[in-house]
Amino acid sequence: MIAFLKILLQKIGPTIIDIIKGKVKEKPAPAQPTPVQPTKPAPSPKVEAIPTSAPIAETPKDLVTFDDLVTASGKYLSRRNHVELTDEVKANINAFLPKLNALLRDLGVKSVSVTSGFRPSEVNAATAGAAKKSYHTRGMAIDLFDPGNALNDLVLTKPELLEKHQLWVEDKGSTPNWCHIDCGTRSDRKVRVFKP
Ligand SMILES: [Zn+2]
Repeated sequence: MIAFLKILLQKIGPTIIDIIKGKVKEKPAPAQPTPVQPTKPAPSPKVEAIPTSAPIAETPKDLVTFDDLVTASGKYLSRRNHVELTDEVKANINAFLPKLNALLRDLGVKSVSVTSGFRPSEVNAATAGAAKKSYHTRGMAIDLFDPGNALNDLVLTKPELLEKHQLWVEDKGSTPNWCHIDCGTRSDRKVRVFKP
């Protein structure tokens, strides 16, 4: 046992004494490798809880889409690729639809079906009573299915909306089962109802 302590003292004794004397500088601790910090996910923005009492904003839904108008609510799918559906006609449709949908929204209409929208010239020529240069051929008119003219009558309860949205409606005497609405150009009149 004593022998063991002697040996131990021989080995570490000088070191301890040197440290006490301040001879041996303490080795700086080896630089610890910086632990790689796991990348913290960016704090997600706080989602504010919507108070249940707050009214939920309704996204206004377009009743009539571009495709509805071009295909007459899916009846004539080949018209999507019709040669007469030119960029100009497409632009006309895109200018017409916001007005039409705004009118329908203002009237509180919940659903519609397109009887006739974009009409290629050969179809227009075969359509009884259609004007030769009908706004239908230019993507500026639509016939909405309207048996009994309920929609026609509804429009006439607020004719100021036609002025507001720069639209025209055809006199219901000429449109027994549909309601024709267009964004054509006509001489100004008090109520934007036209007779063909
Ligand atoms: Zn029409």
